[in-house]
Amino acid sequence: MHRFFTENKIDEVGHIEIQGSDVKHARDALRMASGDKLEIVVEGKAYLCAIKEITKNLMVAGVIKPLEGSHESSISINLFQGLPKSSKMETILQKATELGVSSFYPLITSRTVVRLRDDKQQDKKLERWESVVQEAAKQSKRDVIPRVHPVVQMGELGELLKEGLTIVPYEASDEHGIKEILRSLETPKRVNIVIGPEGGFEEEEIDLLENLGAKIVSLGPRILRTETAGIVASAIVQYEYGDLGVI
Ligand code: SAM
Repeated sequence: MHRFFTENKIDEVGHIEIQGSDVKHARDALRMASGDKLEIVVEGKAYLCAIKEITKNLMVAGVIKPLEGSHESSISINLFQGLPKSSKMETILQKATELGVSSFYPLITSRTVVRLRDDKQQDKKLERWESVVQEAAKQSKRDVIPRVHPVVQMGELGELLKEGLTIVPYEASDEHGIKEILRSLETPKRVNIVIGPEGGFEEEEIDLLENLGAKIVSLGPRILRTETAGIVASAIVQYEYGDLGVI
């Protein structure tokens, strides 16, 4: 069953309208027509609906019933991802959305190679990343589309990491494993995960993060690619504190 998201509300006769590219996709790519059933998410709640009318730019669906159960985890995971090269960011965004991550912060660190030249290029990247996350949210039947924030610098983390437990997988960490740390703490409401880029973290960056109260952890004896580390750390946190592997 295909899932769509809309910011529109359910009207007084139980109809929901969808406009824009989703309509073209439903009609032309998915060949959907009047009478077909679909799932529509309104304000974080999913409904079983049936198409009443579909034209070039508008789809009107009638609500059949609300869908039971939530596809959102009780824990809010925010992934601060050291900006990787090429299209790795899209892979990370897609997989971490499937894993239930709540929001993404592309992070510039001293060893990030990618430099977004100007606001225009950043806006274009952000638009692409948002589209990847929206598609992954539909495919994985999320009830909420995760937020992709504009690129942030290390200097902004003081403010951004104020709330919740911050976990920093560090390739040179030889004191604590992530399993030991997560199991030693009360389950938090919010977890921030900070992952370095291909070149890893500078020691000063680890010091800065430690001073902000972050827990520096190892993900094990092998060096994971940055795109692997972000996905694995999100999965581990979701498994330990959230709903991964839970019915
Ligand atoms: N340039 C580093 C090196 O060669 O040692 C590797 C950096 S790794 C490709 C990118 C990021 O993934 C690291 O900054 C860290 O956040 C995470 N990471 C990879 N393997 C890890 C491990 N075994 N333990 C903790 N973090 C790891």
